[in-house]
Amino acid sequence: MDLLIQNAKLRGREGLTEIAITGSKIEKISKKCSGKAKTTIDAQGHLVTESYCNAHLHLCKVWTLQMMDEKALKDYHGSDMGKAMTAIELAARVKENYDEKWIIKNVRKAVELAARYGNLHIRAFVDVDTKARLEGIKAVIKAREEYKKIVDIQVVAFPQDGVVREPGAEKLIIQAMDMGADIVGGIPWIEYTEEDERIHIQKMVAIAKKYNKDVSMLVDDAGDATLKTLEMLATETIKVGWHGRVLAQHARAMCLYPKPYFQKVAALLKKAKMGVVIDPHTGPLHARVRELLEEGVLVCLGQDDISDAYYPYGRNNMLEIAFLASHLLWMTTATEMETLYDMITVNAAKAMNIKNFGLKEGNYANLVILDVNNIVDALRYHEAPRYVISRGKIIAENITTNKIWITP
Ligand SMILES: [Zn+2]
Repeated sequence: MDLLIQNAKLRGREGLTEIAITGSKIEKISKKCSGKAKTTIDAQGHLVTESYCNAHLHLCKVWTLQMMDEKALKDYHGSDMGKAMTAIELAARVKENYDEKWIIKNVRKAVELAARYGNLHIRAFVDVDTKARLEGIKAVIKAREEYKKIVDIQVVAFPQDGVVREPGAEKLIIQAMDMGADIVGGIPWIEYTEEDERIHIQKMVAIAKKYNKDVSMLVDDAGDATLKTLEMLATETIKVGWHGRVLAQHARAMCLYPKPYFQKVAALLKKAKMGVVIDPHTGPLHARVRELLEEGVLVCLGQDDISDAYYPYGRNNMLEIAFLASHLLWMTTATEMETLYDMITVNAAKAMNIKNFGLKEGNYANLVILDVNNIVDALRYHEAPRYVISRGKIIAENITTNKIWITP
């Protein structure tokens, strides 16, 4: 074997375990693995888990807040989120200066932070419209290739400013798919009429089917209870038979839905095998996570933004996102913290359709070795893992700062 991890504490397993890694795969998980290893890591009884997955990040926009004023941020974060559409229109100004040359530098910084924090799979939304053109797509596809052995980037061709209201966007999305984008995006609620929302969904899902790709759409991202694009997306998914290939982001309007309508939508999500990605730290409203979980809908967390027009912080640290979510969703019992941890690991991987993911023999060795031995402390400190292992290779080693040595 190439790498042996000893004295590992695994979630849901008594005692300590060894993990043997050969090449890029997990060869064995057992109390004792026999054989010689080129490299051995003593996990010292600390937690070893799957690496983290970020199911929603606007990767072309990272570190663009400093390029503009805070008008969009103010509108997006207004307490009732009534001005979310105006915020998007204001934020679009930055795209007039879009250029692959500077975007790639910001993208690299964000991906390297992801690697440091053990966030090895990212669903990256990239604006494709007449202002952004294909500059973001060029930069993010380039980064995907540069980092492919370290961080897996799923490139979403995303018509941020609409499809019907943005003539030319559809053609550009097709061009982005031809350039090698992995997923077709969408944001139907941004359209002016319900009919246009429907056309937006139909057009983007049709492109995805043609290219045999998954779909990821930002739905109902405003404080308006009448927004229904989550339901529309689910029904279209069922209608065209794209079950399990579609993921919804945000769905913040859901928190204002009457209970019977919410239950209908939850049933449709299950039928369509659609998950929901939430980012409760980036807006004052969020989808009804507890109730979705009770209904058995797949829910996971995303970073959403890093210092752009919508959110001033972020560093691609999914433990930090789970820590924030624990407060914002009031999920603070031990069982709920385990659920939050699933929402940044196995559940996010499932939502993102990542194959061979999970701490199982035969799967890719994408792991983190933490400096703590339980989930509460993992969330509490949300520090970079002691070691990050991507496809069997140690890609980051971090010295954590949560210990103080006092000389007597
Ligand atoms: Zn977003």
